[in-house]
Amino acid sequence: MRDTLKHRGKRNQLADLVASKGIKDTAVLEAIRNVPRHLFMDSGFEDHAYQDKAFPIAADQTISQPYTVAYQTELLGVSPGDKVLEIGTGSGYQTAILLQLKARVYTIERQLELFKKTNLFFKKMGYRPKKFVFGDGYKGLPEEAPFDGIIVTAGAPQIPRELMGQLKIGGKMVIPVGDKEQTMMLITRTGEKEFERRAYGSFRFVPLLEDKN
Ligand code: SAH
Repeated sequence: MRDTLKHRGKRNQLADLVASKGIKDTAVLEAIRNVPRHLFMDSGFEDHAYQDKAFPIAADQTISQPYTVAYQTELLGVSPGDKVLEIGTGSGYQTAILLQLKARVYTIERQLELFKKTNLFFKKMGYRPKKFVFGDGYKGLPEEAPFDGIIVTAGAPQIPRELMGQLKIGGKMVIPVGDKEQTMMLITRTGEKEFERRAYGSFRFVPLLEDKN
């Protein structure tokens, strides 16, 4: 598959749609215009790529809805050079949006099949996260902490403590919390032991799974 002018046109429409749903951050909208979402999906599903919908990828997982990606990214408030940890790499689409915003990205995926597939894809496309780790995101990446931002792209039953401790003071975490349906939460670390929590809209994600070892 290639990226053509036609795809570009569809992406512009998608970005306009996402903007009409309330996303204001121009850098985030620009990233949606630039990242070729159809290449993150299996060939044959090209027609679905520029609809504002989640879509199945490998290992029973989904590529998040573009609006949701934009929403989480806007809440995170990424500045160029920020050190960002992503939990749930999946297709790599959200990773690519963060890279487009010039974040230094660390990303973790626990499904081996997806990890392998997306790792090859990143290499082919020239996407360069600082680290792409196969493992359990619940534990975060203590050796690389602290982070300016942490973004969790799977539904968490509760906010993992380990992740809160890996935020810089002033750092933010965006995480969907809940079982069947999740509330988007923005956690800001305001001090060594102080965290501010704010609740945003409802979303539906595949579950953040904890490894039992
Ligand atoms: N950002 C991705 C979203 C994929 S869905 C995209 O847009 O494509 C969520 C992903 O989180 C899945 O790939 C799932 O395997 C992964 N995941 C679930 N629990 C996890 C955990 N504990 N650690 C790391 N990844 C996890």
